[in-house]
Amino acid sequence: VQDPRIAKIASSIRVIPDFPKPGIMFQDITTLLLDTEAFKDTIALFVDRYKDKGISVVAGVEARGFIFGPPIALAIGAKFVPMRKPKKLPGTFLFLPLVACDFDIKLHERSQLGSWKVISEEYSLEYGTDTIEMHVGAVEPGERAIIIDDLIATGGTLAAAIRLLERVGVKIVECACVIELPELKGKEKLGETSLFVLVKSA
Ligand code: AMP
Repeated sequence: VQDPRIAKIASSIRVIPDFPKPGIMFQDITTLLLDTEAFKDTIALFVDRYKDKGISVVAGVEARGFIFGPPIALAIGAKFVPMRKPKKLPGTFLFLPLVACDFDIKLHERSQLGSWKVISEEYSLEYGTDTIEMHVGAVEPGERAIIIDDLIATGGTLAAAIRLLERVGVKIVECACVIELPELKGKEKLGETSLFVLVKSA
Protein backbone atom coordinates (compact mmCIF):
# COMPACT_ATOMS: atom_id res chain seq x y z
CA VAL A 1 0.00 0.00 0.00
CA GLN A 2 1.34 3.38 -0.99
CA ASP A 3 1.87 6.00 1.70
CA PRO A 4 -1.07 8.47 1.36
CA ARG A 5 1.38 11.38 1.48
CA ILE A 6 2.83 10.31 -1.88
CA ALA A 7 -0.37 11.02 -3.85
CA LYS A 8 -0.57 14.51 -2.35
CA ILE A 9 3.04 15.19 -3.20
CA ALA A 10 2.49 13.94 -6.77
CA SER A 11 -0.55 16.16 -7.26
CA SER A 12 1.31 19.22 -5.95
CA ILE A 13 3.81 19.03 -8.84
CA ARG A 14 2.81 21.13 -11.85
CA VAL A 15 3.48 19.59 -15.25
CA ILE A 16 4.19 22.05 -18.04
CA PRO A 17 4.12 20.61 -21.57
CA ASP A 18 6.72 21.73 -24.11
CA PHE A 19 8.96 23.57 -21.65
CA PRO A 20 11.77 24.52 -22.15
CA LYS A 21 11.33 23.03 -25.62
CA PRO A 22 8.78 21.02 -27.60
CA GLY A 23 8.31 17.44 -26.42
CA ILE A 24 9.52 17.99 -22.83
CA MET A 25 6.98 17.54 -20.03
CA PHE A 26 8.57 19.82 -17.44
CA GLN A 27 7.99 18.75 -13.85
CA ASP A 28 7.73 22.01 -11.94
CA ILE A 29 8.43 21.50 -8.24
CA THR A 30 7.86 25.19 -7.36
CA THR A 31 4.18 24.34 -6.76
CA LEU A 32 5.25 21.56 -4.36
CA LEU A 33 7.20 24.21 -2.41
CA LEU A 34 4.07 26.39 -2.15
CA ASP A 35 2.13 23.50 -0.63
CA THR A 36 3.37 23.50 2.95
CA GLU A 37 2.03 20.00 3.70
CA ALA A 38 3.49 18.48 0.55
CA PHE A 39 6.90 20.09 1.12
CA LYS A 40 6.98 19.02 4.77
CA ASP A 41 5.94 15.45 3.86
CA THR A 42 8.57 15.28 1.09
CA ILE A 43 11.34 16.14 3.54
CA ALA A 44 9.88 13.85 6.24
CA LEU A 45 9.81 10.84 3.89
CA PHE A 46 13.50 11.29 3.04
CA VAL A 47 14.44 11.97 6.67
CA ASP A 48 12.65 8.80 7.84
CA ARG A 49 14.53 6.77 5.27
CA TYR A 50 18.01 8.18 5.93
CA LYS A 51 18.14 8.92 9.67
CA ASP A 52 20.16 6.45 11.74
CA LYS A 53 21.98 5.13 8.65
CA GLY A 54 25.37 6.61 9.50
CA ILE A 55 25.11 9.18 6.72
CA SER A 56 27.40 12.18 7.24
CA VAL A 57 27.06 13.82 3.79
CA VAL A 58 24.01 14.99 1.87
CA ALA A 59 25.25 16.00 -1.58
CA GLY A 60 22.80 18.15 -3.54
CA VAL A 61 22.96 18.76 -7.27
CA GLU A 62 22.50 22.33 -8.51
CA ALA A 63 19.99 23.80 -8.66
CA ARG A 64 16.97 21.99 -7.24
CA GLY A 65 19.02 19.57 -5.14
CA PHE A 66 19.87 22.75 -3.18
CA ILE A 67 16.21 23.08 -2.17
CA PHE A 68 15.61 19.54 -0.90
CA GLY A 69 19.09 18.68 0.36
CA PRO A 70 19.67 21.17 3.22
CA PRO A 71 16.53 20.45 5.29
CA ILE A 72 17.27 16.71 5.03
CA ALA A 73 20.91 17.28 6.02
CA LEU A 74 19.92 19.35 9.06
CA ALA A 75 17.35 16.81 10.20
CA ILE A 76 19.68 13.80 9.98
CA GLY A 77 22.71 15.61 11.37
CA ALA A 78 24.75 15.45 8.15
CA LYS A 79 26.64 18.17 6.32
CA PHE A 80 25.35 19.55 3.04
CA VAL A 81 27.76 19.51 0.09
CA PRO A 82 26.77 21.44 -3.04
CA MET A 83 27.60 19.90 -6.40
CA ARG A 84 27.71 22.93 -8.61
CA LYS A 85 27.55 24.01 -12.22
CA PRO A 86 30.97 24.96 -13.67
CA LYS A 87 32.98 27.93 -12.42
CA LYS A 88 30.75 28.75 -9.45
CA LEU A 89 32.96 27.30 -6.72
CA PRO A 90 36.08 29.26 -5.76
CA GLY A 91 39.27 27.27 -5.83
CA THR A 92 42.04 25.71 -7.81
CA PHE A 93 40.74 23.61 -10.62
CA LEU A 94 42.18 20.08 -10.61
CA PHE A 95 42.03 18.88 -14.19
CA LEU A 96 42.61 15.18 -13.79
CA PRO A 97 39.79 13.55 -15.75
CA LEU A 98 41.80 10.49 -16.76
CA VAL A 99 43.47 9.81 -13.44
CA ALA A 100 42.26 7.15 -11.03
CA CYS A 101 40.71 8.16 -7.73
CA ASP A 102 43.58 7.05 -5.48
CA PHE A 103 45.87 9.45 -7.20
CA ASP A 104 43.41 12.31 -6.75
CA ILE A 105 43.23 11.72 -3.00
CA LYS A 106 47.01 11.46 -2.56
CA LEU A 107 47.48 14.64 -4.52
CA HIS A 108 45.00 16.32 -2.23
CA GLU A 109 46.75 15.07 0.90
CA ARG A 110 50.11 16.32 -0.35
CA SER A 111 48.75 19.69 -1.33
CA GLN A 112 49.37 22.85 0.65
CA LEU A 113 46.37 24.50 -0.91
CA GLY A 114 43.80 23.56 1.69
CA SER A 115 40.27 22.43 1.10
CA TRP A 116 39.22 24.63 -1.74
CA LYS A 117 40.43 22.59 -4.65
CA VAL A 118 37.74 21.77 -7.15
CA ILE A 119 37.24 18.54 -9.08
CA SER A 120 34.80 18.15 -11.90
CA GLU A 121 32.99 15.53 -13.93
CA GLU A 122 31.60 15.99 -17.39
CA TYR A 123 28.48 14.21 -18.61
CA SER A 124 26.59 14.12 -21.87
CA LEU A 125 23.32 15.81 -22.61
CA GLU A 126 21.04 15.29 -25.59
CA TYR A 127 23.13 17.89 -27.40
CA GLY A 128 26.63 18.53 -26.03
CA THR A 129 27.94 18.12 -22.51
CA ASP A 130 27.63 19.63 -19.05
CA THR A 131 29.83 19.58 -15.96
CA ILE A 132 29.38 19.48 -12.18
CA GLU A 133 32.02 20.45 -9.67
CA MET A 134 32.71 19.98 -5.96
CA HIS A 135 35.31 21.00 -3.40
CA VAL A 136 37.72 18.13 -2.74
CA GLY A 137 38.09 18.97 0.96
CA ALA A 138 34.34 19.01 1.61
CA VAL A 139 34.35 15.27 2.26
CA GLU A 140 36.73 12.69 3.68
CA PRO A 141 37.45 9.25 2.23
CA GLY A 142 35.18 6.68 3.90
CA GLU A 143 32.29 9.05 4.58
CA ARG A 144 28.78 7.82 3.74
CA ALA A 145 26.66 10.01 1.48
CA ILE A 146 23.32 10.31 -0.21
CA ILE A 147 22.99 12.33 -3.41
CA ILE A 148 19.80 14.31 -3.88
CA ASP A 149 18.18 16.03 -6.85
CA ASP A 150 14.61 16.93 -7.70
CA LEU A 151 14.35 14.61 -10.69
CA ILE A 152 16.11 11.82 -12.57
CA ALA A 153 15.60 11.80 -16.34
CA THR A 154 18.44 10.14 -18.33
CA GLY A 155 20.51 9.70 -15.17
CA GLY A 156 23.54 11.52 -16.59
CA THR A 157 23.62 14.14 -13.84
CA LEU A 158 23.42 11.67 -10.95
CA ALA A 159 25.94 9.34 -12.60
CA ALA A 160 28.42 12.25 -12.77
CA ALA A 161 27.72 13.10 -9.11
CA ILE A 162 28.41 9.46 -8.15
CA ARG A 163 31.73 9.52 -10.05
CA LEU A 164 32.80 12.76 -8.34
CA LEU A 165 32.15 11.45 -4.82
CA GLU A 166 33.65 8.03 -5.55
CA ARG A 167 36.83 9.70 -6.83
CA VAL A 168 37.37 11.15 -3.36
CA GLY A 169 36.61 7.84 -1.64
CA VAL A 170 33.06 8.49 -0.43
CA LYS A 171 30.59 5.60 -0.16
CA ILE A 172 27.29 6.45 -1.86
CA VAL A 173 24.49 4.89 0.15
CA GLU A 174 21.78 5.86 -2.34
CA CYS A 175 20.60 8.48 -4.82
CA ALA A 176 17.31 10.12 -3.87
CA CYS A 177 14.92 12.12 -6.07
CA VAL A 178 11.42 13.46 -5.70
CA ILE A 179 10.53 12.43 -9.27
CA GLU A 180 11.66 9.73 -11.72
CA LEU A 181 10.85 9.61 -15.43
CA PRO A 182 11.13 5.79 -15.72
CA GLU A 183 10.75 5.74 -19.51
CA LEU A 184 14.17 7.37 -19.82
CA LYS A 185 15.78 4.47 -17.92
CA GLY A 186 18.05 6.77 -15.93
CA LYS A 187 18.31 4.18 -13.17
CA GLU A 188 20.42 1.98 -15.46
CA LYS A 189 23.12 4.65 -15.58
CA LEU A 190 23.65 4.53 -11.82
CA GLY A 191 25.40 1.14 -11.85
CA GLU A 192 25.47 -0.50 -8.43
CA THR A 193 24.07 2.57 -6.67
CA SER A 194 20.42 2.25 -5.68
CA LEU A 195 17.79 4.88 -6.41
CA PHE A 196 14.91 5.97 -4.17
CA VAL A 197 12.12 8.13 -5.61
CA LEU A 198 8.80 9.33 -4.25
CA VAL A 199 6.90 9.89 -7.52
CA LYS A 200 7.15 8.21 -10.92
CA SER A 201 5.90 10.26 -13.83
CA ALA A 202 5.37 9.65 -17.54
P1 AMP B 1 19.27 13.81 -16.31
O1 AMP B 1 20.73 14.10 -16.14
O2 AMP B 1 18.90 13.54 -17.73
O3 AMP B 1 18.80 12.71 -15.37
O4 AMP B 1 18.48 15.14 -15.95
C1 AMP B 1 18.23 15.48 -14.64
C2 AMP B 1 18.35 16.95 -14.41
O5 AMP B 1 17.65 17.71 -15.40
C3 AMP B 1 17.73 17.29 -13.08
O6 AMP B 1 18.58 18.22 -12.41
C4 AMP B 1 16.38 17.91 -13.42
O7 AMP B 1 16.14 19.02 -12.60
C5 AMP B 1 16.47 18.30 -14.88
N1 AMP B 1 15.36 17.77 -15.70
C6 AMP B 1 15.44 16.86 -16.71
N2 AMP B 1 14.26 16.59 -17.25
C7 AMP B 1 13.36 17.33 -16.57
C8 AMP B 1 11.91 17.48 -16.64
N3 AMP B 1 11.16 16.80 -17.53
N4 AMP B 1 11.34 18.33 -15.75
C9 AMP B 1 12.06 19.00 -14.85
N5 AMP B 1 13.39 18.91 -14.73
C10 AMP B 1 14.05 18.09 -15.58
